[in-house]
Amino acid sequence: MRFSKMLIPTLKEAPSDAVLVSHKYLIRAGFIQSVGSGLYNFLPLGKMVLDNVKNVVKEELDKAGCQEVDLAFVTPASLWIESGRFEKYGKELLRFKDRKDNDFVLGPTHEEMMVNLVRQTVKSYKQLPLNLYQIKTKFRDEIRPRFGLMRGREFLMKDGYSFHKDEEDMKREFDNMEQTYSRIFKRLGLDFRVVEADSGAIGGSGSKEFMVLADSGEDTVVVCEECDYGANIEAAIRKPAICEAEAPEEGIKAKFHTPDITKIDELSEFFHLDPYYIIKTVAKKALYDGGEEKIVLFALRGSDELQETKACNSVNANELIDIDDEELQEAGLIPGFMGILNLPEGIEVVVDNELKKAPCMVCGANEKDYHLVNVNMIEYEGRYDDLIAVQEGDRCAKCGGRLKYTKGIEVGHIFQLGTRYSEPLNATFLDENGKSKPFVMGTYGIGVSRLLAAIIEQHHDDKGCKWTMQSTPFKVEIIVSNISDELQKQNAEKLYNQMIEDGIDVLIDDRKERFGFKMKDFELIGIPYGLIVGKKISDGIVEIVDRDTLQKEEININDVIEILRVRAGV
Ligand code: ATP
Ligand code: MG
Repeated sequence: MRFSKMLIPTLKEAPSDAVLVSHKYLIRAGFIQSVGSGLYNFLPLGKMVLDNVKNVVKEELDKAGCQEVDLAFVTPASLWIESGRFEKYGKELLRFKDRKDNDFVLGPTHEEMMVNLVRQTVKSYKQLPLNLYQIKTKFRDEIRPRFGLMRGREFLMKDGYSFHKDEEDMKREFDNMEQTYSRIFKRLGLDFRVVEADSGAIGGSGSKEFMVLADSGEDTVVVCEECDYGANIEAAIRKPAICEAEAPEEGIKAKFHTPDITKIDELSEFFHLDPYYIIKTVAKKALYDGGEEKIVLFALRGSDELQETKACNSVNANELIDIDDEELQEAGLIPGFMGILNLPEGIEVVVDNELKKAPCMVCGANEKDYHLVNVNMIEYEGRYDDLIAVQEGDRCAKCGGRLKYTKGIEVGHIFQLGTRYSEPLNATFLDENGKSKPFVMGTYGIGVSRLLAAIIEQHHDDKGCKWTMQSTPFKVEIIVSNISDELQKQNAEKLYNQMIEDGIDVLIDDRKERFGFKMKDFELIGIPYGLIVGKKISDGIVEIVDRDTLQKEEININDVIEILRVRAGV
């Protein structure tokens, strides 16, 4: 392709709302154009990259035995009512009516649609397993669309759904997808980590995320310095903490006057005790379908922090929100002195697993100015769950190594669904014994348009993008130093034609612009190799610029194509 003919509207300035480099560069280099909050047009270069990414995804999925389909984007609300998600999904779901007053939604994900397709076409175990996917526009009316392609409202997703006769076969496919996704992200040249993810109320290790490691990532990922353990902070576990500080002396449970002492550090000072030996009680309001709400107390060691997603899952709520002192008092609770014993009616309590059997703890007495001492958790019979936000420096549950935080961009998510959708949608098949059973399902997503942003977040410098070999719109950009120089022009054209013949994707910058200006665009756009045809052409010499290092090497014109062919892996 010719730069002079292509629509590549490069800009000097980034939009004022752009914070992330990928957002700035993708707009400045003419890959995308903003049309409204969270809505983007893909320009020719952007479309080329998007197609490259799509092709890698498709090739690997097809090799892994998946079949591509294409489902309607506009989805009848009736399916969402059947699954129970029409109400539950919240404001991200764009609902609308047609002229006959029928309800519809714009698909934010397609579980219902895919189950509906399969329940009408698959009747027997003999037709299983089946893994169907599409690469399709999704719409989610995100509260804060931002960061360009990273969090759009309209975006491109690969969404796949697998159908199985039993749990065991679904798990086999889950592993198959984990390997397939790993191959996809590796081919795209990404440094990523597969991590344990939050599986919502389902729990267990039924869900994994693919995180592209980048400082700008929105997700906190816990990784082990010694082994391959990695998990989203929302799902991360650790070896139970131990405390070096002296434990309190054993004694009999009693009320202790602690006037105005309400905070963990004040209590720690007052009792000369490490916060490890003090029970912290965090109150939240849990929200449920249909407007139901209740107050929940989460109890954990004073030295630990509450992980809200874990806490939310532990009470099966849609959301947890903060609660003010006034509301706590109305419910009969005393802020600063809350504890897990002697509670007023109707308050639910969840205690962190690490407090199981803990001896001699200090805990709020649920009475103003009093705490309890010598609370023996072995006597406590309430509910326990994992509530802890793993901290840097905690120990790995797998190997004991040190855990640390890194930031990640979620580009893929695989999930063992079970019968969450097949049951309510009554999607069944006949098994070997002629018995009707709901399909056991898995679901697998990739943020295809988000991947463009993720690639740039991981591969850029202060001058612009550095596309990876599989994603780049062109492998080589020929830069003609002075287009009015006949010798330069002729040689550049010759190299260009030969590269096309050899199957090397090439762009030629044949614009009547200064060399410096063209180099700036080359650096901004980020094609892996530049081939400069300049003055030295009279000696048969051209230059290769490596976009990664920006280093230049002089090469004999007769060798240059072979060298580039090898480097570009063509
Ligand atoms: P996130 O936690 O980032 O909001 P999610 O968990 O809601 O994502 P999934 O429902 O698992 O997302 O969707 C599958 C994939 O689609 C995600 O892994 C992500 O890469 C991509 N994705 C989700 N929301 C967006 C968005 N608003 N813009 C671009 N890509 C998105
Ligand atoms: Mg997800």
